[in-house]
Amino acid sequence: MRARPSAAAHGRLHNFGAGPGALPEPVLAAAREALCELPGAGATVLEISHRSPEFERILAEAEANLRALLGIDDAWAMLFLQGGARQQFALIPINFVAGSGRRAEYVVSGYWSRTAHAEAAVAAEAGAGAVLWDGAGERYRRMPRADELVLPGARRTAAAYVHYAVNETIEGIQLRELPEFGAVPAICDASSDILSRPLPLERCAMIYAGAQKNLGPAGLTLAAVRRDLLERAAPSLPAMFDYRRLAEARSLLNTPPVFAIYVTLLVTRWIRDEIGGLEEMARRNRTKARTLYQVLDESGGFYRGHALPESRSHMNVTWRLPDTELEAGFLAQARAAGFSGLAGHRSIGGLRASLYNAVSPESVRALAGFMEEFQRCHG
Ligand code: PMP
Repeated sequence: MRARPSAAAHGRLHNFGAGPGALPEPVLAAAREALCELPGAGATVLEISHRSPEFERILAEAEANLRALLGIDDAWAMLFLQGGARQQFALIPINFVAGSGRRAEYVVSGYWSRTAHAEAAVAAEAGAGAVLWDGAGERYRRMPRADELVLPGARRTAAAYVHYAVNETIEGIQLRELPEFGAVPAICDASSDILSRPLPLERCAMIYAGAQKNLGPAGLTLAAVRRDLLERAAPSLPAMFDYRRLAEARSLLNTPPVFAIYVTLLVTRWIRDEIGGLEEMARRNRTKARTLYQVLDESGGFYRGHALPESRSHMNVTWRLPDTELEAGFLAQARAAGFSGLAGHRSIGGLRASLYNAVSPESVRALAGFMEEFQRCHG
């Protein structure tokens, strides 16, 4: 059960980590070069000023490429932020609920959206976020259906926004379609889904993501906010909490994470030029996911998937083995065979394989082979 030699090149493992996760090899090679010298800058990418023409070009191209891939125009502001997706859990209610006399609505479909909902009460005021739907009773094994996300009239008129996570990274469940909420602004946490497939963002007023899964390294958080939602932001917020000021300053209110933005630029070039765009990215991701779910389905109950079939995530595949001892054995043997990052989140245990964009189909096939072999030995 040895890893394929390609993964062992430079001592690299098949990386199924949930984030920070794998980055594409060509991106790592280009980043390595920029650590020796950024062409034309007379310095490495770590040493240039965020006010330099070199960084201006990096930021402008990163923004243009992201806009092209996401399909958003100038009606949206693009923000390059820090503090992780978790900081957005607080900034969103601070900007759009606090002092507005309105309440927000939260779809609670798993650990991350539940955390976002809890944070609203702390960041704004108790009761700032109502729960529109909660999957806790079903142990977060599925995403809500469209008919479960209908806002009753009174709550529709009073809602500052509806917040949801399109992919629950820990439970491994994903919305196939983005829900529609009519005139109520929809705010989507796409931390573990962004750039994995085309998304109809006309159904959203804001989308945000920590970079460290599909976009680049940790340290950068991307947010795209429709300007009409920005107009509703609370006045007189501290500058670094104020989406409007951050947008006006084109993310240069303070020193942005220069290197993380540079690597994200490289990732956008890779998706566009080497993959061929988001349709192809989605096709690859679907195929990778199918490979693993097939192993679960054909294991006769040895591998028990957490997600119900209709909500299975293409980004994070989660499963359990008959007992925790076997799970520990699986992890140890997987590591020895060249696979890393397969432990489930500490909150639910079990196993999880994250299949982000940079995880190659070859790595996924290798993992599928390992799982079949493990079952033959221990099933
Ligand atoms: N939302 C989702 C869906 C996530 O997967 C994560 C991180 N795993 C977060 C929010 C929190 O992200 P961060 O660590 O960037 O704050």
